[in-house]
Amino acid sequence: MSFINENFLELQDSYLFSTIAKKVAKFTEENPDKKVIKLGIGDVTKPIVPACIKAMQKAVEEMGAQEGFRGYGPEQGYDFLRKAIAENDYKSRGIEILDDEIFVSDGAKCDCGNIVDIFDKNNKVAITDPVYPVYIDTNVMAGRSGKYNKEKEIYENIVYLPVIAENEFKPELPKEKVDLIYLCFPNNPTGTTLDKNELKKWVDYAKENKSIILYDAAYEAFITEENIPHSIYEIEGAKEVAIEFKSYSKTAGFTGLRCGYVVIPKDIKGLAKNGEEVSLNKLWNRRTCTKFNGVPYIIQRAAEAVYTEDGKKQIKENISYYLENAKIIKRGLEEAGYEVYGGVNSPYIWLKIPEGMTSWEFFDKLLKEANVVGTPGSGFGPHGEGYFRLTAFNTKENTIEAIERIKKLNK
Ligand code: PLP
Repeated sequence: MSFINENFLELQDSYLFSTIAKKVAKFTEENPDKKVIKLGIGDVTKPIVPACIKAMQKAVEEMGAQEGFRGYGPEQGYDFLRKAIAENDYKSRGIEILDDEIFVSDGAKCDCGNIVDIFDKNNKVAITDPVYPVYIDTNVMAGRSGKYNKEKEIYENIVYLPVIAENEFKPELPKEKVDLIYLCFPNNPTGTTLDKNELKKWVDYAKENKSIILYDAAYEAFITEENIPHSIYEIEGAKEVAIEFKSYSKTAGFTGLRCGYVVIPKDIKGLAKNGEEVSLNKLWNRRTCTKFNGVPYIIQRAAEAVYTEDGKKQIKENISYYLENAKIIKRGLEEAGYEVYGGVNSPYIWLKIPEGMTSWEFFDKLLKEANVVGTPGSGFGPHGEGYFRLTAFNTKENTIEAIERIKKLNK
C-alpha cells in the first residue's frame, strides 16, 4: 500500500461553483419559461480576435509542411514570444526585463500554483481575503498551511489580510514578519486596485523583511485609470522582491487556448539554509525544464499576434466591450442604492449586500426574483461574506436586462 500526501486531506472541498450550477439547474427545471441571465462566471465570452486566428492558421500550415514542422520547443517559450513580451509589456513602459527572465506557460493558474515548488515548507505565507482560491489550496497541498479551523474558516499558519470596504479594499501590511505575500491587482473577486504609492508600500515592506511578493496581474488589460500600475516592476526596487504572473486568458480570450507567462528577474534571490543566496530564476528554470515541455507552437504564435497592430486594436475593442458592461452594472446598481466597488479597472463588480442577509441568501433572492446569477462573496473566503460578485462577461443586451431586473427588486 502506498501512502498518500496527507496535505491533500487538509484541503476544504469547494462547493462554490458546483452549488451555484445545481441551484441554477433546479430553478431552470422548475421555471422553464424564465430566462436566467448569468453574471457569475469569470470566463470570457467573445471569440478569439482575427489577428490571433490568422496567426494560428499560418502556424498550422507551417506544422503541416516539412520545412515548417516543429517538435518539442524550448521549455521556457520561443524566443519570438519572449522578445515580444519584453518589448511590449515591459520596455514600452520603461521597464527593463530580459527575455530569459520570462517563462511562457499554459496560464497563470498553473504558474501561481506551481511556484510553491521552489520555496521551503516553513515559509510564512500572507494571502489577501477574499481571494482567488488557488493561492491557498496550493499552499495547503505543499504542507505550508497548518490545520484548518472550521469555526473561523481559516488555516492556522496562513496570515490572512482582509480586503474589505472598511480598508477600501487595500490590505494592511502584516503585523508579523511574513516570507511570501500573494497580491492580485486588479483584484479577483473585488475588482479593486492599488495605485503606485500603495503598491510601493508592499515593495518597501518586502525589501525590509526580505520577503517575496507573488504578484498576479491576470487582469492588467482592464486597467483604465492613470497611476494604476500595469506591472509591479513599475515600482522601484520591485525586481529584487517580486515575481509577476500574467495571462492571455482575460486579456485576449485565451481561457480555452491556454497561454500566460511568469517573470522572475535575475536580481531576486532566495536563501539556502547555509545562508547562501540562490537565484530564483535559476531554480524556476530548472523546475520548468524538468516538469514542463512548453506551450504549443501554434498557441505561442497566437500570443505573439496579441502584440501586432491589428491584434492590439481588436483586443482593445473586446476589453472596451466588457468594460462598458462593467460600467452598466456599476451605474445601475448605484442607482438602485447599492454600495458598489470595482468595475472601473476590472471586469468584476463587488457589491455590498443589504444588511441582514448572507451572500447565499442574496444569491437565492437574485435567482428567484430577478432570474440573475452571480457569485456569493463567502465563496472566496470569510471576509467575502456580506458581498456579492457580478461579472461583465455576458452580452451588453443581457447585462442591461439583468440590471434592469435587479433595479426592480425590493431590497
Ligand atoms: N489569476 C486570477 C486572479 C484569476 O482570476 C484567474 C482566472 O480566473 C487566473 C489567475 C487564471 O488564469 P489562467 O486562465 O491564465 O490560468
